[in-house]
Amino acid sequence: MTKPRLLGPAAFFTHNHAPVVNVNDVLQDNVTLGQKVSDRVAATVGSWPFIIIQSIMLSIWIGANVYLAIHWKDKAFDPYPFILLNLVLSFQAAYTGPVVMMSQNRQADKDRVMAEHDYQINLKAEQEIEVIMRHLAYQNSILITMMEKLGVSHEEAESALRAHGITDPLPMGIDGASTV
Ligand SMILES: [Zn+2]
Repeated sequence: MTKPRLLGPAAFFTHNHAPVVNVNDVLQDNVTLGQKVSDRVAATVGSWPFIIIQSIMLSIWIGANVYLAIHWKDKAFDPYPFILLNLVLSFQAAYTGPVVMMSQNRQADKDRVMAEHDYQINLKAEQEIEVIMRHLAYQNSILITMMEKLGVSHEEAESALRAHGITDPLPMGIDGASTV
């Protein structure tokens, strides 16, 4: 369908930009099981409940072994200096470290995608605002033409605007270019 030229710039603007999407939804749809697990592990390890529960478990482990070492010398399963506990904590650190890093890398990738998406949205908005401003200027040129046809001079129109409290009808410069 061809539009009459008089409809102006806005009518002819083709929105040939990528559709606006919710990046969070898109990224959420492409999450693998491994990524879900790493996110969950990172969220769990990096929380106060985890630290508190682990502190309680370590206290119980150490307390029990100290108690057993004092009262039943041979029954302590991990006496001072708690070598088995060290091994367990080393294993835990060896696995949670890389998993947390995986989650952090993924978060960094996500931030990059979101920044790119924000840039595209800003670019699109800028283009569309530019078209709207051109369209406004186009409409004003039509209004001026109408005014001239009605025999109203520019001076008369300007004083009429001042009567409505519009003291500076051309704050942006006469060519429509922004002074900012
Ligand atoms: Zn658009």
